[in-house]
Amino acid sequence: MEATTSSFDPVKYNAAVMEQLQARDFLPSVPFIQLCGKCNLKCAMCPADFWETNSGLMPFDLFQHVLNELSRAGIGTLGFASAQGEPFLHPDVFPFLEEAIGRGFKVIVSTNGTVLNESRIQQLACLRLLQIQFSFFGYDKESYETTYRGARFEHVVKNLVLLKESLAKSDNKTELLVNGVSPTGDAASVRRTYEFLNKLGISENEILAVLPCNFGGR
Ligand code: SF4
Repeated sequence: MEATTSSFDPVKYNAAVMEQLQARDFLPSVPFIQLCGKCNLKCAMCPADFWETNSGLMPFDLFQHVLNELSRAGIGTLGFASAQGEPFLHPDVFPFLEEAIGRGFKVIVSTNGTVLNESRIQQLACLRLLQIQFSFFGYDKESYETTYRGARFEHVVKNLVLLKESLAKSDNKTELLVNGVSPTGDAASVRRTYEFLNKLGISENEILAVLPCNFGGR
């Protein structure tokens, strides 16, 4: 549900959300699946320093059980995304994605883009994914690497450009969404991120760069 800051009324908003939840019997609309509990970064906006563990891989039989439950509940869309972990660190991420798509789910996958390479990007572009969310914020090496601590600006930018080009060549209609949050909370860094991404060929409607906010962005 969209809410604008100028007309935002939290009481009405909460009532509308509650109505939607009741209408679907409190089932999630897009459940997130944490395929991998491990991440290779320590981003400025992430509580990675407080994680008790930085490990864990979902086994395939548990994944199939989850898909069975989602099917039974009539849920048709799922996200390979979570507040902890990079899905592409799971060694079997592609068989998992293929299984979900093969069973008719619309699939969103989120990545920090660091563990992609040319071959994985070509594979991704060939899958019939609903959306790829590419986490990125910054407009140069310093602004990016102080946000995505442990990542390398040049490598990630190269992957992003390659992903954009590969998706443009494919006829799978997979959406790209480059999303990120300003760690410093200043509007200028958001504007500069948009400008930088535009120069890479990413259009306005493929970017969601925001100031710090709660998880839902409201
Ligand atoms: S990539 Fe995501 S999970 Fe990993 S440290 Fe950054 S914000 Fe946290």
